[in-house]
Amino acid sequence: MVAALVILVVAFLCLGSFLSCMAYRLVHPEHPQSTRSCCPQCHKAIAWFDLIPVVSWTVLHGQCRHCKKPISWLYPFIELLTAVIFIALFYKIPMHYWLGYGIFFAALIISIRTDLETMLISRWVTIALIPIGVLFSFLGLLPISVLNSILGALLGYGILFGITKLFYLLTGKLGMGEGDFDLLAMIGSFTGIGGMWFSLMIGSVLGSIIGLFFVLISKNKNMSQPIPFGPFLAGGSILFSLFSAFFLRLFL
Ligand SMILES: [Zn+2]
Repeated sequence: MVAALVILVVAFLCLGSFLSCMAYRLVHPEHPQSTRSCCPQCHKAIAWFDLIPVVSWTVLHGQCRHCKKPISWLYPFIELLTAVIFIALFYKIPMHYWLGYGIFFAALIISIRTDLETMLISRWVTIALIPIGVLFSFLGLLPISVLNSILGALLGYGILFGITKLFYLLTGKLGMGEGDFDLLAMIGSFTGIGGMWFSLMIGSVLGSIIGLFFVLISKNKNMSQPIPFGPFLAGGSILFSLFSAFFLRLFL
């Protein structure tokens, strides 16, 4: 039992490393597209023993072995996050939904990383996956109906688009990026209207609390400092997917 859990954790840490790498390449198309991983600063190839998830980053104190430039904390963070989320998927979600939720969670993890790093969310992991959400609902590989999936995607995009337009008309400022509309539309296609709505609610509450916390602890008390909203939407939808029975009992 323990051995199986250890194997799962190691496998999911490696998956996290792969997703991190994909996320990096999506928002850094200028990075050499070689099959080997290399340091973004000095472009030296990274040896296999420096690619062990979490361990290598910790042993090297978050620095490149060659040029000593810092390696982003996002690598170990995304690796650990992937392991936690996929272990939860393994234990909380019925087996016939694993593929659907596996693709969904992988796309969310990539979106979290790109949004935290560059405030961008690639359409390759949002809009491009909406047909997959609809198809999987049709095939019974997700626990929602096709209509719910389509309406979830349309309403997800429409709600954030509407809020942003209204906010712009009232304040003259852009509150949210289009990446967030795309992301909520994709969340809607995999979790339906209910899941999309809960993700938006949970994401907004989490985002407000954490945003306020950062304003309070930072020296620059600027309330208009932009913070990425995508990770909160993604976090909300992951919590909803894993604990929907609990949330539905709590609110309905
Ligand atoms: Zn380097």
